[in-house]
Amino acid sequence: MTDIIAAPAQPRVPVRGGGTFPVRRIFCVGRNFADHAREMGAAAPASRAERGTPVFFHKPADAIVTGNADVPYPPGTQDLHHEVELVAALGADAPPGPLAREQAQALVIAYGVGLDLTRRDLQGQAKAKGLPWDTGKGFDHSAPISELVPATQVPALEGLSLTLEVNGQVRQHGPLRDLIWDVPDILQELSLLYALKAGDLVFMGTPAGVAALVPGDRFVARLDGVIELHGAITG
Ligand code: MN
Repeated sequence: MTDIIAAPAQPRVPVRGGGTFPVRRIFCVGRNFADHAREMGAAAPASRAERGTPVFFHKPADAIVTGNADVPYPPGTQDLHHEVELVAALGADAPPGPLAREQAQALVIAYGVGLDLTRRDLQGQAKAKGLPWDTGKGFDHSAPISELVPATQVPALEGLSLTLEVNGQVRQHGPLRDLIWDVPDILQELSLLYALKAGDLVFMGTPAGVAALVPGDRFVARLDGVIELHGAITG
């Protein structure tokens, strides 16, 4: 059978050393750093044993912005926020059923750094009404992402940190050892809810310091010493 429209372009992320990563789905984790959970007015778990279940949401695959390209200020908001995040890229389909920790880690083919851009006013209105976050989170150009770096070239994540600078000032900084759920933890939790597959990206949640971006702002997001993402807000 012939397609009745032209096939939509497949979103792809460049990979360091060559090649590209075709994106299937974007999973995102909310409240994965205790200091950010507290700044958003949510309770932070006192220990791993009390951490409960992570908050998940999605962005569309074509929300990615690659190549350090400019990011247009989105419509429908007066309060666009930055959230710098580690991104894990899955290189294989998960076997059926819940993942063991080692199986989960083995799915990760590469890492990047990204921004979970958020229309905070729309998210806040949705939270207040007990409604979904989709319009606050899953909009066009809401997922700027760096090149992906093969996992074999990334040092142990526990020793790395995330940093976001806006116009040369540090806005966010947090060590990955402070993640409430680390990468295999999150993939294990996702495997209880979804069939994970090659091409999936997971935005791992942000440390404290989220704040507004306005047209003209320039940002640099870093997985310190490993990966950088640059960009500017236009509009
Ligand atoms: Mn986030």
